[in-house]
Amino acid sequence: VNNMTVKMPHQCFINGKFEDAENGKSYNTINPTDGSVICKVSYASVGDVDRAVVAAKEAFEKGPWGRMNPRDRGMMLYKLADLMEEHQEELATIESIDSGAVYTLALKTHVGMSIQTFRYFAGWCDKIQGKTIPINQARPNRNLTFTKKEPLGVCAIVIPWNYPLMMLAWKSAACLAAGNTLVLKPAQVTPLTALKFAELSVKAGIPKGVINILPGSGGMVGQRLSDHPDIRKLGFTGSTPIGKQIMKSCALSNLKKVSLELGGKSPLIIFSDCDMDKAVRMGMSSVYFNKGENCIAAGRLFVEESIHDEYISRVVEEIKKMKIGDPLDRSTDHGPQNHKAHLDKLLEYCDIGVKEGATLVYGGRQVDRPGFFMEPTLFTDVEDHMFMAKEESFGPVMVVSKFKDGDVDGVLQRANDTEYGLASGVFTRDINKAMYVSERLDAGTVFVNTYNKTDVASPFGGFKQSGFGKDLGEDALLEYLKTKAITVEY
Ligand code: NAP
Repeated sequence: VNNMTVKMPHQCFINGKFEDAENGKSYNTINPTDGSVICKVSYASVGDVDRAVVAAKEAFEKGPWGRMNPRDRGMMLYKLADLMEEHQEELATIESIDSGAVYTLALKTHVGMSIQTFRYFAGWCDKIQGKTIPINQARPNRNLTFTKKEPLGVCAIVIPWNYPLMMLAWKSAACLAAGNTLVLKPAQVTPLTALKFAELSVKAGIPKGVINILPGSGGMVGQRLSDHPDIRKLGFTGSTPIGKQIMKSCALSNLKKVSLELGGKSPLIIFSDCDMDKAVRMGMSSVYFNKGENCIAAGRLFVEESIHDEYISRVVEEIKKMKIGDPLDRSTDHGPQNHKAHLDKLLEYCDIGVKEGATLVYGGRQVDRPGFFMEPTLFTDVEDHMFMAKEESFGPVMVVSKFKDGDVDGVLQRANDTEYGLASGVFTRDINKAMYVSERLDAGTVFVNTYNKTDVASPFGGFKQSGFGKDLGEDALLEYLKTKAITVEY
């Protein structure tokens, strides 16, 4: 794969065709491994959004997609998944080069889970059903109310850069299975797998206009999608401040339905009665998976006092074994951060931690090599008032705080003392304690004696300022449907 020549589509994908942006503008997408330019990519404008929405609207209203036999729609999505599988090495290579994800992880997770997601939602196409409802009227036996689930129409999807293809898959597969058409904006810094996906969608026979992909900026393309009067729903994954802005624009324009998967600061509680080997292995993965660019990453670890020092020294041993290097190299564990501005933000995050008096046990610096590499980092003695205790790093920074032996309610209160509520975790061998804690953690996902175990069939999404509306599972399908109640008197 290192020497594989990969053809990269790089233009806007509108109405089934690749074309330059209307104003002819383009920008460079950068390889985070060495800072080099991968290729030029079209920089879509407001005019391109408007053309894509016209195409998507026409495909929804006049084209075959919405009215297609749902079983046939499912078959097309299965075909698309098969094509993604046929091209999985190419997709993983592009993802690795564009986002810095380690190739082995890109193949298994970024691409592998995307394929599974399309297969899962393809299976839902012919299982979208309404209900029959008894109604209390004057002639109860001569009345019937039934509900129908209908697609919404044109949907917009705006995604971040940490799992470029997987974020596309989580939202698009549910959206398409429900019978909608879509206009998607990938993150500016990672547009390439989305465009390769567009190419595969043509091969899969997805009708023109059903999928439209516009690389470009959030301020222009994303904003126009939020404001557009012909879009009925916007599915967003990204930061909380941008999510709020999008929700406001969606409300003020035409009251679009929104689902928001936003930031997190997920707590992971490690009790002294845990399986230590597993708690170390999973604790590492909870923070360093995908170089920390993982929305559900454990943002803060609470370790019970009596095992704290042993836990930290075990983690340090493991960090030292991590191989930092070229993400395309099969033996690499830890690749570059996604882009330069993100690396700079992470370095500043660590500086603030040191200034506030947290103990920097390991790392905290940029790696001395080209590209945007950051050392896997470990901070201890993080107190509740510190910046690090509250703010998400979105990078490979483990933030550890101690809690007093046996203080279950105290640690729960500290773990829930955050504006976010995306994920959380607990390690203990005591099933009663595990249940007590998992019922009280105020987060959309709770992992018990594991971490990062997401599945296409299980709903994923946050509470509080981590947003609302789920990805994955049946819940995600419902996000892209509306319910119509039909009452008949006979
Ligand atoms: P971001 O800055 O919010 O950007 C996300 C997307 O929104 C990008 O495509 C961005 O475009 C676009 N955007 C920016 N301004 C916009 C606007 N005014 N209107 C519409 N779209 C706009 O987030 P990020 O830095 O890419 O991603 C990191 C954040 O995402 C973290 O907070 C992380 O926790 C969160 N995240 C959450 C989940 C989850 O499932 N909850 C998953 C992954 C990531 P540009 O390309 O121009 O920036």
